[in-house]
Amino acid sequence: MVCKIVGMNNADILIIGAGAAGLMAAYELSKAGKKVIILEALDRIGGRAYTLHTGSGLATIELGAEFVHGDLPITLGLLKEAGIKYNLASASMWQYQKGEFTADEFFIEHWDLLITRLNQLKQDMSINAFMQREFSDDKYETMRESVRKYVSGYDTADPQKASCFALLNEWQHEDESAQHRIVGGYGTLMNYLANECKANSGEIHLNTIVKDIYWEPGKVSAITTGGIAYHATKMIVAVPPGVLQAPTQERGAIAFHPLITEHSDTIQQIGFGSVIKILLEFDEAFWENEQTKATTGHDLKDMGFLLSDEDVPTWWTQFPERSTLLTGWLGGPEAEAKKDFSEDEILMQALQSISNIFKLGIDDLKQGLRYGQVVNWTTLPFTRGSYAYDKVNSPAARKILNNPVNSTVFFAGEYLYDGPAMGTVEAAFTSGKYVAERMLK
Ligand SMILES: Cc1cc2nc3c(=O)[nH]c(=O)nc-3n(C[C@H](O)[C@H](O)[C@H](O)COP(=O)(O)OP(=O)(O)OC[C@H]3O[C@@H](n4cnc5c(N)ncnc54)[C@H](O)[C@@H]3O)c2cc1C
Repeated sequence: MVCKIVGMNNADILIIGAGAAGLMAAYELSKAGKKVIILEALDRIGGRAYTLHTGSGLATIELGAEFVHGDLPITLGLLKEAGIKYNLASASMWQYQKGEFTADEFFIEHWDLLITRLNQLKQDMSINAFMQREFSDDKYETMRESVRKYVSGYDTADPQKASCFALLNEWQHEDESAQHRIVGGYGTLMNYLANECKANSGEIHLNTIVKDIYWEPGKVSAITTGGIAYHATKMIVAVPPGVLQAPTQERGAIAFHPLITEHSDTIQQIGFGSVIKILLEFDEAFWENEQTKATTGHDLKDMGFLLSDEDVPTWWTQFPERSTLLTGWLGGPEAEAKKDFSEDEILMQALQSISNIFKLGIDDLKQGLRYGQVVNWTTLPFTRGSYAYDKVNSPAARKILNNPVNSTVFFAGEYLYDGPAMGTVEAAFTSGKYVAERMLK
């Protein structure tokens, strides 16, 4: 191993990754007087919380996390502490299927029966297998398709692998009436944590890709792609599961020396979904205008979410805030299948989907498009997916992964959270805080 050893690169605790989990752990540990260094591959902090200021008319856009899904204690507590405001983002749902718009709160037929049967399930299985077993009758065809779309779209999960127990837990705790958006975006909260950490002598090194980790009990070194070595007595690896699942020759992947075989094998049991998020800012909010009202036969001024049967199926506005931004969403196996499409191809499919839904000419849409961005998170080397979902073996895997290697190498991230807010920033904060508290004990 040839590497530059720089004397200043010593810390009590090294943290790999400046996402929500890494920043939260750094915030807690530096507050408790520990010397912390965060090593972050990208030229920015935040990871999957990525707020962009476009300067094209919109104050902020969220390329990654956007909503606070419920009255989530750690996120709302931090916002209060930081003096950052948030707004209610709950909005009406619409459906566009087979050429027809319908307004409804929830679209899954026989929902109560589904929940009853899931509650009776004794042994976990994939939601796909469960639907085939319990609801194979033709009369449930629409329901089966709605469940498949919901699991792929919302959880960005593969229904052939997603655990029934985890989905039931999530569905029974959902609170659609308490969705929030942060004023200024998630980025403001990430900046707050980073600034607090720096104020307590913490350091954040950007553009620093960790490639190798050498460890022995009570001693650990991280080696970057540039050959720089950092040293500490303990480390938190706070990178996404997709990065830990990737073969070590892939960009962003990390090799452990000596191998940590149990952890490396177990990480493969964590489900990690796929997502493509599409942000389109138009000259005008055409879904609010009289022409749309006339062609669709509906007043869509207050439309929040729109679920459709188009190539890009899910769309939402910024309602209740008035804005000309439409956000498209493709999740789960459908996003995985398109992961190698070019951004232009996805953009064209997105515009075609909008054209079909709102009966607008594709050229008119292109002309009115002020800003368009496609973020294909599955192809980004330092993320490699969307967010975690449970497969049948994931709870057992999490127990192993939540145990540090020889009290020296710890893991943190949204995928290590046990609870109903899985796959969220709250999950990442909870994990980061838990690991920090454990280290401080
Ligand atoms: C499109 C999208 C929309 C979402 N929407 C929501 C939402 O509305 N609400 C919500 O609560 N959650 C949402 N989520 C999920 C949420 O963003 C994540 O759960 C959370 O941000 C994960 O935080 P983390 O710290 O675990 O991981 P990350 O944020 O991924 O942080 C990991 C960090 O590690 C760095 N890294 C990786 N490899 C290396 C390496 N080799 N060396 C150094 N650094 C490395 C990465 O660059 C990254 O900064 C969304 C996610 C996506 C992708």
